[in-house]
Amino acid sequence: MIKTLGYAAQNPSAPLAPYSFQRREVGADDVQIDILYCGVCHSDLHTARNEWKNTLYPSVPGHEIVGKVVAVGANVKNFKVGDAAGVGCMVDSCQSCPSCGEGLEQYCESGFTGTYNGPVFGGENTFGGYSDNIVVNQKFVLRISHSDNLAAVAPLLCAGITTYSPLRQWNVQPGQKVGVVGLGGLGHMAVKIAAAMGAYVVLFTTSPGKREDALRLGAAEVVVSKNADEMAAHANSFDFILNTVAAPHNLDAFLGLLKRDATMTLVGAPETPHPSPEVFSLIFKRRRLAGSLIGGIAETQEMLDFCAEHGIVSDIEMIAMQDINEAYERMLKSDVKYRFVIDMATLKSASAA
Ligand code: NAP
Ligand code: ZN
Repeated sequence: MIKTLGYAAQNPSAPLAPYSFQRREVGADDVQIDILYCGVCHSDLHTARNEWKNTLYPSVPGHEIVGKVVAVGANVKNFKVGDAAGVGCMVDSCQSCPSCGEGLEQYCESGFTGTYNGPVFGGENTFGGYSDNIVVNQKFVLRISHSDNLAAVAPLLCAGITTYSPLRQWNVQPGQKVGVVGLGGLGHMAVKIAAAMGAYVVLFTTSPGKREDALRLGAAEVVVSKNADEMAAHANSFDFILNTVAAPHNLDAFLGLLKRDATMTLVGAPETPHPSPEVFSLIFKRRRLAGSLIGGIAETQEMLDFCAEHGIVSDIEMIAMQDINEAYERMLKSDVKYRFVIDMATLKSASAA
C-alpha cells in the first residue's frame, strides 16, 4: 500500500483538515501520479458538506488533478515515468455496458466510480485529488500536451469538459448566439471554449463587477441577469444556453430568451431544486430544457487537445492547501476569479502544522 497525505472533511460541518490514508499498490494497468496541482470545483464543496445527501466520510475531494507519472504497471504503454498526466471526475466504470461502449463512461449503466466519494450507485469510498498522489487505471488517465502551465490546465479536467461536452453535443456552430449563465469556474471555461468554437457569446451574470472580465475572456456581450430591461432585449434570440449556476433560480427568465426549437442545458447542480419552469416557456416555441454530466474519457482527451491547440487554460488563483476552507467561503459568495487551484507542494507543511 502507498502511504498518502491528504485533506479531508470528517463530517458535513467540519472544516477540511489533514488526513493520512493508503492508496493501492500500482497494478499491471495502473498509473501512479504525484499530484502537483488540484483545482477546486463547486462539487467539492457540495460533497464535503453533504449537500447532495450522498457523502461518504472521510471525504477527500478533488477531481481536477494534474501531476507527474512516477510509476506505471506492466501493461501500461501510453504513459511513462516523468510524463505530465491528468485525472478528472472518474477513475473507473463497468467498461461493458452500451454507454461505456460508446465512450460515455459518465453515463455507465452500472454507475461510474467517482474520483472521490466512490461509485455513484453506492460502494466503497474513494479519495480524490486533495492529496499527494493517486493510483488510477490507465483508461482513466489523460495526456496533457500543454504542460508549460500545468496549474492552469488542472481545471480543464472538470470545468473544461463539463462545458465542452454540451457545447459539442448541442452542435454549437460558428456565428451562433450562445448564452452562458454564471461566471464561475465552469462559466469562465464555457465562455472561452464557446468563443474558440466561433460562437457569439453572451454572458449572464448576477455580479456586475465581472463585466470587464467576461469581455476579456471572450464574451461579445454581458447581461446583468437581475436587470429586466437588459434581459428583455434578448428575448427569443439564442441558439443555445449553457446554465452553470450552482444555486436554485428562476429558469423561465432564460428559457424565454431561446429561439424556437433551441435548448438550454443545465450543468449546475444546486443543493435544492430550481422552481419549476412554466410549461408555456417550453411549449410555445418547442423549446427544450436539458442536462449534461461531465464528459467521457475520449471526449475529455479531445477537449484537452482542443484547448492546447487554441491556447486555452483556466484563469486561476493559486492557493495553499491550508486555505481551502476560506476558498469554499469565497466560492459561496461568487468570489472566484475564476478557479482556485491548490499548489500541492503546500500539503506537507499544511499537514505538519
Ligand atoms: P462556481 O465557481 O461557484 O460558479 C458558480 C457561479 O454561479 C457563480 O460564480 C455565480 O456567477 C453564479 N451564481 C452563484 N449563486 C447564484 C445565484 N444564487 N443566482 C444566480 N447565479 C448564481 O461553481 P462551479 O465550480 O462553476 O460549479 C457550478 C455548478 O456546476 C455547481 O453546482 C457544481 O456542482 C456543478 N457541476 C456540475 C457538473 C456536471 O457534470 N453537470 C460538473 C462540475 C460541476 P455570477 O457571479 O456570474 O452570477
Ligand atoms: Zn467538478
